[in-house]
Amino acid sequence: MPASAFSSSDPDWPIRQAAFQRLAELTRLHGAVLPWEVVTQGFSFRGELLYFATKAQGIFRPRQMRGGALSIKTIVPRQGRFARYDDLASEDGAFFYRFKGEDPENHSNQLLAQALALEAPLIYFYGVDPGMYRPIWPAYVSRFDARTLTCEVVADEALSVEPPGTALHDATADRIRRGYITVQAKKRLHQETFRLHVLHAYEHRCAICRLPRSELLQGAHILPDRDERGVPEVPNGLALCHLHHGAFDADLLGIRPDGHIELSRELREAHDGPTLEHALKSFDGRPLHKPTRRDQWPREQFLEERYTRFLQRVA
Ligand SMILES: [Zn+2]
Repeated sequence: MPASAFSSSDPDWPIRQAAFQRLAELTRLHGAVLPWEVVTQGFSFRGELLYFATKAQGIFRPRQMRGGALSIKTIVPRQGRFARYDDLASEDGAFFYRFKGEDPENHSNQLLAQALALEAPLIYFYGVDPGMYRPIWPAYVSRFDARTLTCEVVADEALSVEPPGTALHDATADRIRRGYITVQAKKRLHQETFRLHVLHAYEHRCAICRLPRSELLQGAHILPDRDERGVPEVPNGLALCHLHHGAFDADLLGIRPDGHIELSRELREAHDGPTLEHALKSFDGRPLHKPTRRDQWPREQFLEERYTRFLQRVA
């Protein structure tokens, strides 16, 4: 958009656009989840290198900018488990971002207040694993609550980035669309985080065939995610390759509560070439490969319930 086409009150509009453009390139190159080393590459604006974020600051604005924050960031502690799953599990159309410290008036928190006042789009670097961030942009601060020391942040779609004050800017439509997009973004984050944690626990190998290619592995739920107990925790998950995940979900393959693999009779009795023989039938009766950490093993109660369903379906 040419600079003259809007009357934004955000003094940093061109810098934000440069940041978003670069971020779009980086996610095309590296995927939706970026390692911190990639985030630190920054972006260039009029020949100068600017950072998206810094390690030390959760709320960040490069010194070249004058208005609200450019980015906010959450981290996952090394030993941390699912620090923000409450946030992701809720159906609220907003993320809740904790202020820095206890003083709403401090410099960092005021960058959030300014972003809200200017309706300035920013980047939310959501930590999904230590050193791994899922950038969500454009994101907007939609509420600044000094009492609870949190602000609400909503996501929007890139195409909707319009400076406030243009003819296309409709506050009610924005609010409704952003609520919807935020709920979708949370669902994706929830799935991506679950997959990453499960893959880690299983050392990036299929629990059935040991296939060691992350690109071909998925985080399978033992109890479906829509089941409210289907919590996004490793004990409700299995790292499975596409083939074994498909077979598990189609009840062609079950897992006994003791962790042994059982093929449906239909598959056991079929004779149809090497994939069936080697990739499926040869695992009948064999044990699953479990994570090293015992607290990450599949929960027996979950396996039992799933196995009961398998028996009913194949009966
Ligand atoms: Zn497999």
